[in-house]
Amino acid sequence: MATLIKNGTVVTQNAKREIVKADILLSDEGVVEEIGKDIDEKAELVIDASNHIVMPGLINTHTHIAMTLFRGYGEGLPLHDWLGKKIWPAEAKLTPEVVKAGAVVGIIEALKSGTTAFNEMYIAGMKEIMDAADELNIRAVISRGMFDVGEHTIDEQMDHTYEVIEEAKKHSELVQAAISCHAPYTASSELIAKAKELARKENLLFHIHVAETRHDVVSMIKQRGVGCIEYLYNLGVLDDKTVLAHASWVSTREIRLVGQAHATVSHNPISNLKLATGSIAHIYEYEKAGANVTLGTDGAASNNSLNMFETMKFAALLQKHKYWKADILPDQRILDFATVNGGKVLGVPASIEVGKKADIIVVKKTPNLLPEHNIIANLIYASSPVSVEWSIANGKVSVEERKVPNEEVLLEKALNEINLFFEQLNAEKA
Ligand SMILES: [Zn+2]
Repeated sequence: MATLIKNGTVVTQNAKREIVKADILLSDEGVVEEIGKDIDEKAELVIDASNHIVMPGLINTHTHIAMTLFRGYGEGLPLHDWLGKKIWPAEAKLTPEVVKAGAVVGIIEALKSGTTAFNEMYIAGMKEIMDAADELNIRAVISRGMFDVGEHTIDEQMDHTYEVIEEAKKHSELVQAAISCHAPYTASSELIAKAKELARKENLLFHIHVAETRHDVVSMIKQRGVGCIEYLYNLGVLDDKTVLAHASWVSTREIRLVGQAHATVSHNPISNLKLATGSIAHIYEYEKAGANVTLGTDGAASNNSLNMFETMKFAALLQKHKYWKADILPDQRILDFATVNGGKVLGVPASIEVGKKADIIVVKKTPNLLPEHNIIANLIYASSPVSVEWSIANGKVSVEERKVPNEEVLLEKALNEINLFFEQLNAEKA
């Protein structure tokens, strides 16, 4: 279906970072065919964007989308208590149905707040998360967060990952497989090394939580005499296909190692603040060192939203605060972190350019985005999911006039499933 987006203010995110007033024509295959004034082509769908910003969809490089089912559960606990006492015991009981339900709620939220691609790590229901991504039309890079503690073995965990790789092949081009280990404190060095070796062999992304808390680093230094990043470096894990989630508690030398490897840092400022992890990733220094800086929300259980606009704002404010310098990072760079840099590592479109697949959102110029002295600053500091009217992923419409098709029915079904899961969980405890 050809689509014509008329007369929008287009934040292209192309190499010159041009902002132009233009029409955008998408071909039947959803490829950007033309960007220009007064395009006079027949199209099945015409979107009047004369009062809108048209921009690339936002890219969330670290989340656990299915964990949306835990939003608000176990509030107020420190990270390791929250995981050990609330989340992990509940996760041990997860069913494919409830994971799917969590993914449906999470993906609808993500789409309606302008996200068109996410990098997922989870521990169950990987097929169901892929199904939900396909059904709701969002790009998803999916990995099973491997861990070999307790009774869990390396072979068993690797088998789960082989399944993910096979399962992704049965899904549409929206879905890609990746390989992940949960964290250096839950995955052995042998498992991490094996996982990265497989990722290299299959040319897939490798994704890991690292140096999130002071505790992570102190115990790593006690056990191995080095920080968490240096440990991964010694295992040969750092390269341009590795995504390091958090990477906040690090030394200057470790920042340099990440930069030299051109590895990706996924900065999750809101989750870090909420879990009081105590250090904010040095994204200004990472960027200077050569790392690919991107942004993530983490799961809705520790954020509690999947709102990437809000994430850009927190990321920008926190660097200013951290360095006592209001112009530490240009706003354009913050938008780049949430678009082109995310696109680069996930291998998905992140700019509006002729010949690229359309991953585009149409954002209404609601009062919070006016006047337009600085469109980029407006998007980072004053935007809201409420302004997102249309979302197109891989050339297909996912959000139409602020609605996901069949949204109410999908949400009701998902919520019933989630409520049933918690009723059973509570009954077992009682
Ligand atoms: Zn996480």
